[in-house]
Amino acid sequence: MEKFISIEDYHRFLASHADGCVKAVQYYLSCIEENKHLNAFLEVFATEALERARSLDEDRKSGVVMGKLHGVVVALKDVISYKDHRLTAGSRILSGFKAIYHATVVEKLLAEGAIIIGRNNCDEFAMGSTNENSAYGKVLNARDLTRVPGGSSGGSAVAVQADLCMVSLGSDTGGSVRQPADFCGIVGLKPGYGRISRYGLIAYASSFDQIGIFGRTVPDVARVLEVISGPDEFDSTVARSAAGTGGGMGKDGHNGKYRIAYFNEGLDHPGLDPEMREAILGRLGEWASAGHTVQAIDFKLFDYIVPTYYVLTTAEASSNLARFDGVRYGYRTGDKDLDLTEFYKRTRSEGFGREVKRRILLGTFVLSAGYYDAYFTKAQQVRRLLVEHTDLIFKDFDILVLPTSPSTAFPIGEKMSDPIAMYLADIYTVYANLTGIPGISLPLFTHTSGMPFGVQAMASRFDESSLLQFSHQMMQQ
Ligand code: GLN
Repeated sequence: MEKFISIEDYHRFLASHADGCVKAVQYYLSCIEENKHLNAFLEVFATEALERARSLDEDRKSGVVMGKLHGVVVALKDVISYKDHRLTAGSRILSGFKAIYHATVVEKLLAEGAIIIGRNNCDEFAMGSTNENSAYGKVLNARDLTRVPGGSSGGSAVAVQADLCMVSLGSDTGGSVRQPADFCGIVGLKPGYGRISRYGLIAYASSFDQIGIFGRTVPDVARVLEVISGPDEFDSTVARSAAGTGGGMGKDGHNGKYRIAYFNEGLDHPGLDPEMREAILGRLGEWASAGHTVQAIDFKLFDYIVPTYYVLTTAEASSNLARFDGVRYGYRTGDKDLDLTEFYKRTRSEGFGREVKRRILLGTFVLSAGYYDAYFTKAQQVRRLLVEHTDLIFKDFDILVLPTSPSTAFPIGEKMSDPIAMYLADIYTVYANLTGIPGISLPLFTHTSGMPFGVQAMASRFDESSLLQFSHQMMQQ
């Protein structure tokens, strides 16, 4: 069977194939089977996906109007609730736990005819950049099996990269959709904060978390965004005022010419691979020649971005993860005859992995009485400054460009013993989460090492339309 190049292409195929959804699911199930070694899926819902495909094929026969995602085969990062299905956040502490309700995004996917094929491996509680922090084993990059796929949504990225599904959902708190998309050579969108409901998403750092979308084309990603975005009575942080369907590919009013800025501090960064720097600057030059305005600007706060992110997200994580105590759900220590405090300690020590514990400790430290003002309050103030500076930038520009990551996918194991080096590699992505703006990674380049890499584009808050229009245009050249 032919590989589908886009959802539109698939829908054309369905018009002439009465059993097209079943065929598509069978195709993806066989690809998943052949690529088991990648470890991208924690569980595959084969029987029910086929069942649903059959009923969608029946619907078409009886003339039911097709939903926007009719028959589209989707995979979910294992931090998104799918009722009556297991949900682990890549952690031992949630082993055996089953979701008791649908996330809002799942309700919306199903209402438009999507088929959910399985749940994807990820770094534990979405903390990490390589997928090596999963309690269920690492995920391999399909382009080079000795390299990481990126993280934390590595399984969801590889699922699209290796053609194991059409599109997938991840979550992005500091780059976890854009960076693995970059490492795997696909499109990864993090919408602006408040665009998509977080109801049913396991929280890491609630004021940063957003559900994001992986796909092979910008129109596919835009279509999924259109379906899953919008107000939700279960999440009061979702914007009500945002226009229309909330960020599909509608017209953006720029007539195809954009005012593009990039940060000097970003492109001149000593950690950035020189070949990637040249490629991105070269492309910016081409965009300028094509009539866009391209301008380098200074961003003096650049060095504060990563520390601010790690102070605030660990603080939020330490609070969010307090609920995993072994009493209400998930893993519980086998030790008997413990008093309650010992029971909590033992359960949490055994249930959480190293990185999660490190972050809970860090977060608890920055929130502790003697250090609260020095770290947490200070970081909140810096976040405010970042937002204010960003608002000013978007008064003069439509699009901000940065690399997605300072290097291509690194070899498995390379950064595991050096958490600071791992954190510093988040330099380009965490900015969009700190400021709440939408960002996308576009797979535009191939490194001489053979690995793909992309460029990251960002737009002002709630301007996903410009971001997607711009991205679509740049992907076509
Ligand atoms: N790499 C970042 C971190 O470890 C991003 C995580 C994310 O976006 N979930 O925090």
